[in-house]
Amino acid sequence: MSSLYVHVPFCPTLCPYCDFHVVRRGPGWVEAYLKRLQEEAEELYQAHPQPLQTLYLGGGTPSFLRDRELVALFQALPWKWQPGAEVTLEANPGTLNQERLRLLRDLGVNRLSLGVQSFQDGVLRFLGRAHGRKGALRAVEMALEGGFRVSLDLILGLPMQEVEKDLKEATRLGVGHVSAYTLQVEKGTPFALLGLKEDPEREAWAMEKAEAILEEAGLRRYEVSNFARPGEEARHNLVYWRAGFWLALGPGATGQYPGQDLNAYAFRRTHPPLPRWLSGEPPKEEAISPLEHAKESLMLGLRLKEGVDVEALERRTGLSLWPGLEAAIQELVQEGHLQVEGFRLIPTRQGLFLLHQTVLRLWQALEG
Ligand code: SF4
Repeated sequence: MSSLYVHVPFCPTLCPYCDFHVVRRGPGWVEAYLKRLQEEAEELYQAHPQPLQTLYLGGGTPSFLRDRELVALFQALPWKWQPGAEVTLEANPGTLNQERLRLLRDLGVNRLSLGVQSFQDGVLRFLGRAHGRKGALRAVEMALEGGFRVSLDLILGLPMQEVEKDLKEATRLGVGHVSAYTLQVEKGTPFALLGLKEDPEREAWAMEKAEAILEEAGLRRYEVSNFARPGEEARHNLVYWRAGFWLALGPGATGQYPGQDLNAYAFRRTHPPLPRWLSGEPPKEEAISPLEHAKESLMLGLRLKEGVDVEALERRTGLSLWPGLEAAIQELVQEGHLQVEGFRLIPTRQGLFLLHQTVLRLWQALEG
């Protein structure tokens, strides 16, 4: 347990496609949030005091907090950090300036995940973002000059977007990491209510462009949506994709903790949304059986270019998995979706594009 996720739910504006747990600031809300966060952190620290290898402040927009609030947030976390710990903060371009970056460095942040989404003003207006092209460029340049590891979020495949231009801009700036997504129209969001539709063909084309342009520039696709220069991979997110354990704090946050007996490989704890969380309601706990863990590990691990080691999964869960999977694996190999190295399943390029079907077939094989 050496990774911690902290959810900061506040955002300056609410984007019409967003279905994360976010709110605008109301009077006294941030103070109440910080007070409750400190109580929750102290409780969690008693049970899990190990120094952290990765800390991820996500949201919401953590960089939307004021300076003294950011200082209070870091003071509320009693954990020590291991040497070389990765400390990531999600930030919107409009919330950064030189002083703010200096403060973040002093607090120990060494990696910024910038919600740029596009460098085109028309696209940014369509997405309802609070920043424009100039603000996005300036934020990335300042963050790189300030010595941060920088990851950019880009949304690709939008109707009015010049996809190649956005990708080339990202590579020209010299960032070490890009998360490239397509727009998901989630139920209940303003975009869904407006009847916006996804366009799978255009989105598949955009992801192919992302792979070609980013890999050409030295950013290797190491996960379905994530590209990095060697050594720049998101260590915190790798804990999720490798189905590891992590601590979580804050409203709406989910953590995964080791289970106590043979029937529960792990526990997932999901914290309630802000109002109930502020009133002290504890997280909801759900046991993850060894079989569920095996299924999740396949689903998450096959998002990674490194794939999943089924033998290691068998050791972790005490289940015999390979015999049940073998026939499905052979078919998927023949169809060009998987490669096998020893007991490691590795998705091919085609397999990465058709991940959903590959995972479903492996799950069906496991359920026998
Ligand atoms: S800034 Fe990010 S978290 Fe906040 S509303 Fe927009 S998409 Fe959601």
